[in-house]
Amino acid sequence: MNIGVLALQGGVIEHLNQIKALGHNPIEVKDPRHLENIEGLILPGGESTTIGKLLNVTGLMEPLRNKIKEGLPVLGTCAGMILLAKNIENDNRKYISLMNIKVKRNAFGTQIDSFRTKKQIKAISDKPLELVFIRAPYVTEIGDGVQVLCEVDNNIVGVGEKNMLAISFHPELTSNLEFLRYFIKEYIK
Ligand code: GLN
Repeated sequence: MNIGVLALQGGVIEHLNQIKALGHNPIEVKDPRHLENIEGLILPGGESTTIGKLLNVTGLMEPLRNKIKEGLPVLGTCAGMILLAKNIENDNRKYISLMNIKVKRNAFGTQIDSFRTKKQIKAISDKPLELVFIRAPYVTEIGDGVQVLCEVDNNIVGVGEKNMLAISFHPELTSNLEFLRYFIKEYIK
């Protein structure tokens, strides 16, 4: 199947490679035309303010928001989670703004506070998985319809709501394909 990766800024290639590794066809989404034939979309990590700006410059913001509203399955990682959130504690801008969550940017600290940890997430795997956090956000409030997928140190780092899945960390920077497999199985198929 065709799975898009928003390719304006940030960690795009690693997602394209993981999509290929699972035998699917990655599509780089750079303008609204690229939204037409995808069955799912990944919003990668990077800098949410920059990606947000580029979404407006490229004319992608509205069509993308509409597609997600209409049910396009979407996985937001790190900055992607921030783009999806309806509320951002420490940024008064709004981006795609469809998920019923409040997030805090850089919530674990600055670049030097980036870290790796291992965690078993029952819904995804029976083995502990490596989680990589890079200037990551976490979720400080959830609203109706939001399910918590995982927490680290009592902070919510993974949530699902309807066709949207958002995680604070970067599975594409590890060798495990379990998150992508989970997204495809539970959200796309
Ligand atoms: N700190 C970034 C932001 O606020 C997110 C970091 C990331 O995506 N790795 O957008």
